[in-house]
Amino acid sequence: MRLLAIVLLWCGVAAAFWQVLGGRAQPLRRTRLLLGTVVEITVYDQRPQRFVEAVESAFDEMARLEALTSFHRTGSDVLRLSRAVGNVELAPETLQILREGLQVSQASGGAFDMTLGRLQKLWGFGSGHPRLPASDEIEAALADSGSGALTVKNGKVIKHSPAWIDLGGIAKGYIIDRAIAVLKQAGVECAAVNAGGDLRLIGRRAAPWRIGIRHPRKPEELLGTLVLSEPLAVVTSGDYERFFEQNGRRYHHLFDPFTGMPARRCQSVTVVSNRAALADALATAVFVLGPERGLALLARYPRTWGLIVAADGSSLVSPGLRERVTWP
Ligand code: ADP
Ligand code: MG
Repeated sequence: MRLLAIVLLWCGVAAAFWQVLGGRAQPLRRTRLLLGTVVEITVYDQRPQRFVEAVESAFDEMARLEALTSFHRTGSDVLRLSRAVGNVELAPETLQILREGLQVSQASGGAFDMTLGRLQKLWGFGSGHPRLPASDEIEAALADSGSGALTVKNGKVIKHSPAWIDLGGIAKGYIIDRAIAVLKQAGVECAAVNAGGDLRLIGRRAAPWRIGIRHPRKPEELLGTLVLSEPLAVVTSGDYERFFEQNGRRYHHLFDPFTGMPARRCQSVTVVSNRAALADALATAVFVLGPERGLALLARYPRTWGLIVAADGSSLVSPGLRERVTWP
């Protein structure tokens, strides 16, 4: 017993020396089921255990915002907004998501569209029992949607039609950004928030960040690896996340708002940018626009790049990202 105590004490002293001498401490890693996926928060620090509470607060904030932006929670902002026409009072966070989303809608010529709630419900990707709808059903689901359905002015949102709202293309990114904000507030300097492959980093490490990008047709393989020396957000939209096949065709959850059908120009789009909300909305928009128009859209944003796999399987990379990708 005594020997064990001495050994433990020695280990403790050795560990302390190791830290003083500059050895790197194990990062603090925690996971929680949120946003329909496993969210992992990692804190890199000499004494990461002091941030255990901060990490729990970041998860709590994510859960709160998930409830606010989900269509399936009673009393959520998205549900109230979907049911309303006219002025609607919303939480400042929801307003911020709408504001940012509307900017991307406008910049993408309507390819990014947060008023596709009825279409999303019709296809049933959220329910787990998706199906191919008839064309008159699609037409009806699109009737009230589009750029005129929603405006934000002077901190107020106005619904101009009975369209249902779906924030599935942007909310996850925004919520990742909020988790990062909570960590920063608590004094965390270097961390990663990873929500099922969509992630944001803060701080710098001795070695660059390496982020594997999944191959859209070979689930066990990497398409490539991003090597980032600066902390950024990396978000991917792919046709392999939620889909079904019928008569040899793939139907998935990223819709072309003009046809109501799954967008056909890409297999996957990864966007790198400063913030995850912007990267998330842009990934969805670029997926709909296709490689050429998509890359042109990304070029209009500072420090924002894309890695796109087109429908034919070819890869296209923004000029600013080329030297940051290694291929297998
Ligand atoms: P995820 O990572 O959760 O799959 P994505 O960012 O790839 O999310 O966005 C997919 C979700 O975005 C869909 O499930 C749907 O809710 C919503 N969506 C689909 N098409 C569009 C669109 N054209 N504009 C905005 N949102 C869309
Ligand atoms: Mg998105």
